[in-house]
Amino acid sequence: MKKQLINSKKRFRDFLEASWEEQILWWIKDNEMKTEKDISMEFKDRRFLEDIFNDWSPIQTCRKASQIGFSTLEIIKSFFAARNKGWNIIYTLPTFGDVMQFVSSKVNPIIANNSQLSNWVKEKDTTFLKQIDKRFVYYRGTFSKKTQKEKMQSGVGIMLTSDLNIHDESDRSDQTIIEQYESRLEASQYGGKWYFSNPTVPGTLTQKLWDKSDQKHWFIKCPRCGKLQWLDYYKNVCKEKGIYICQKCKKEITDDTRRNGFWVRKYRDKEISGYWISHMMAPWISASKLIESEKNSTKQYFYNFNLGLPYIGSDVTVDAELILKNVVYGEPNFKVNNVIGVDTGLRMHYTLGNKQGIFKVGVTTDWDEIEFLMKKYEALAVFDGLGDLTKPRKLRDKYRGRVWLTYFKRDKDQPDAVKWDPDKMAVYVDRTKIIQRVIDEFVDSNMKFYVEPEELLDYIDHWKTLYQIEETDTIGVTRKVWETSGENHHIFSTIYFYLGLLKAGRAKVMNWSRPAEDLAHDPTAFNIQEMIEKNQFQNSKDWRK
Ligand SMILES: [Zn+2]
Repeated sequence: MKKQLINSKKRFRDFLEASWEEQILWWIKDNEMKTEKDISMEFKDRRFLEDIFNDWSPIQTCRKASQIGFSTLEIIKSFFAARNKGWNIIYTLPTFGDVMQFVSSKVNPIIANNSQLSNWVKEKDTTFLKQIDKRFVYYRGTFSKKTQKEKMQSGVGIMLTSDLNIHDESDRSDQTIIEQYESRLEASQYGGKWYFSNPTVPGTLTQKLWDKSDQKHWFIKCPRCGKLQWLDYYKNVCKEKGIYICQKCKKEITDDTRRNGFWVRKYRDKEISGYWISHMMAPWISASKLIESEKNSTKQYFYNFNLGLPYIGSDVTVDAELILKNVVYGEPNFKVNNVIGVDTGLRMHYTLGNKQGIFKVGVTTDWDEIEFLMKKYEALAVFDGLGDLTKPRKLRDKYRGRVWLTYFKRDKDQPDAVKWDPDKMAVYVDRTKIIQRVIDEFVDSNMKFYVEPEELLDYIDHWKTLYQIEETDTIGVTRKVWETSGENHHIFSTIYFYLGLLKAGRAKVMNWSRPAEDLAHDPTAFNIQEMIEKNQFQNSKDWRK
């Protein structure tokens, strides 16, 4: 095999020293392989693909932005593996129509443009099947007109056996059918499953796998200050200047710096290999291009196709993923502008935190506990203005200027407005708008939780009761309104907490940046240097351990 792969003898020794996994890149480079567009494959701008070419982990998942060369990578890898590992491979796309287009516009041109491959694929070469030696790559769609029940029974009528299933555009494929393809792997020692897709919403197979994966992020090192950081649109793009900047020193980040990044696993003890590819690591895509896309396209589009992230819009319900993705491991700074939001009643549900995030959620029947928390954390308190107001009013009078009562009121003229009345210590706000705003903060990862996931189970259940209905008002205007279908107290304790943040803080949550001294506590900052120096993160879930 090795002799077949290498044309140039002088590189033979280097090649021998390369591991099997690394040989695919040698093979591509030595054969000057071409893409479907008959352009030589290059890795200068696509350095982030090199490690993925070399990655032969059985279970892989990649959430990715559009047009970054990933399908080409999978096509090449599938042929390489069929030939050199002797694998049968099933390659799926959402529909059979997609398969026909994909094979004619991508697979066939790649075979035609590379004599290596066209020599391999001789015996059988159809749209749905390519034969390589004694092995096959099968191309299949996932959607059919069958009912869910028929699908379960049919097993998609697949008699094929496979060593590797590659699921292209997996988020847009029939999730039941994809799962059924797993049964085709049972006889295989390798039993590989590779998922990749432009994401849609959280909770698809691909995104669930990502959550369980080692979650590789693309890191860069700032040439000026040396700060290691993963590229984050909301931290690395300066919208005023239209450039990429360093999160720490705010100096410009060049295309070369973005190009010369490297993958860092977030978690070390995971079997699933996960990649997240955004347009920020594509050196040919400028910051201004991304800013333009954010302005001109829907949030769903921007997240899915530019940032390579799933997005949950206002027409979707809130699920556990949305909350759990915001959980960070570490300790917040308890000393700055704390706020407690309390949904009152026989049992008081509270949410406590500050602009770094929420660090306590709980429930109590004892008003003294609420007062104790207010005192301990010097917290501003926001309560609801409904029901028995005896105790809230008492606290309001005792802690002057620190206790606010919330009233929901629809403001047709200024629906986004939050109105504060310091005479009555009352705050007026549109219920649906403020719920949406908090959900958006979750979506944008601006609302963090410094709380163990196990302690968030009830909290999440409350959020899950949210759903939307269309409501037409007296003047005939229709709008979407959030409703809840069960215990919702933690939704509202969070709303009151969020209102408190708007009052206590000096800026909006979204524009707020952490004080430097807090950064060491922020695992989302992937603060490698400080972590190595202080070795302070002991949590086994934390990759920096
Ligand atoms: Zn810097």
